[in-house]
Amino acid sequence: MNHLMSTYARLPVAFVRGEGAWLWDEAGRRYLDALAGIAVNGVGHAHPGIVKAITENASLIHTSNIYRVIHQEQLAAKLCALSGMDEIFFCNSGSEANETAIKLARLYGHQRGIEVPTIIVMERAWHGRTIATLSATGNRKAQAGFEPLVTGFVRVPYNDIQAVRAVAEHNRNVVAVLLEPIQGEGGVNVADMQYQRELHAFCHEQGWLYMLDEVQTGIGRTGTLFAFQHAGVQPDVMALAKGLGSGVPIGACLARGSAAGVFKPGNHGTTFGGGPLVCAAAQATLDIMDAEGLLENAARQGARLKEALLAGLQNVPGVVEVRGQGLMLGIELDRPCGEIVTRALAQGLLVNVTSEKVVRLLPPLILTGEQTDQIVGILAPLIRDFLGFRQ
Ligand SMILES: *Cc1c(COP(=O)(O)O)cnc(C)c1O
Repeated sequence: MNHLMSTYARLPVAFVRGEGAWLWDEAGRRYLDALAGIAVNGVGHAHPGIVKAITENASLIHTSNIYRVIHQEQLAAKLCALSGMDEIFFCNSGSEANETAIKLARLYGHQRGIEVPTIIVMERAWHGRTIATLSATGNRKAQAGFEPLVTGFVRVPYNDIQAVRAVAEHNRNVVAVLLEPIQGEGGVNVADMQYQRELHAFCHEQGWLYMLDEVQTGIGRTGTLFAFQHAGVQPDVMALAKGLGSGVPIGACLARGSAAGVFKPGNHGTTFGGGPLVCAAAQATLDIMDAEGLLENAARQGARLKEALLAGLQNVPGVVEVRGQGLMLGIELDRPCGEIVTRALAQGLLVNVTSEKVVRLLPPLILTGEQTDQIVGILAPLIRDFLGFRQ
């Protein structure tokens, strides 16, 4: 009997070893990992630099946030220098990073005399599974059964600046907008560059915080360290997590300008967040990305992957769109396609389907040109076959 709560419909495979972009199962079968633990293992599996950082810090895993944590201070300095942000709160997950952003925005509002601080969120957004982040999430299926949801959110369509302006006209309680530069779970939907710039400018005009959820898009995933760099607009608040610790649980909420200095001692905290070991792993992750040129590689392999997918799926009826940036790509089909995951698994390729109809690729940032071609070599024929396309 399985003693795990059945929160997952798990695939019938267990991995016992990994190296780079490869994973091996119990039977010794090899798989090309084009999902990287859902955008977590950016530097690949078993990277020697990560193994070294964890091993060296295994003798001081945890102290407590009631003391100074040197690795945490060093990581914060490095991340702020790289992102243009001023200060950071470290936690353990993407949900907690967004939860921190939500609390920060509410406190920011109260400090300015707004009694019912309200945050504008997007349709199809994904911000996490805690009750507040689930309330901010734009997915009725994920929310169903967990009502009452947390209030204080107003939802608008993604990529629609007029909808945001319309809220501003009648709602005096808005304190912030929370946006994914590319929606991950929502189907790899890309926010237009112009929209991001207009939204950023409008937030500042209104005195709102421009808050980005870069939990999935951050740490090199889209070919720049942060996705906001493509549009060139600096957030006031930013949430990070997935790729930051190469698998050790770490989340971060970064703030700058008027969003910095909002929290005072006692306002927020965490037992585990930002411990010495996880911060050392995150420092190592950033060092490896720099030393190995992984941003450039993600941009290069991402372009190659997208181009090859477009070529391999050209004129195939049923393929709606190939979209995304860097190594965060989605192939939208005209029908539910969850079956593609098991078919790919059978051929030794790990991919994912999100939003029912979107095949999602999040390979590690260390992907080689050969591995990029291997992904397409398996996936394109598989999708053509799934759609009943013969030629
Ligand atoms: C995964 C994800 C989250 C939730 O992160 P957890 O670590 O699972 O809590 C939040 N926002 C985005 C954009 C994500 O992709």
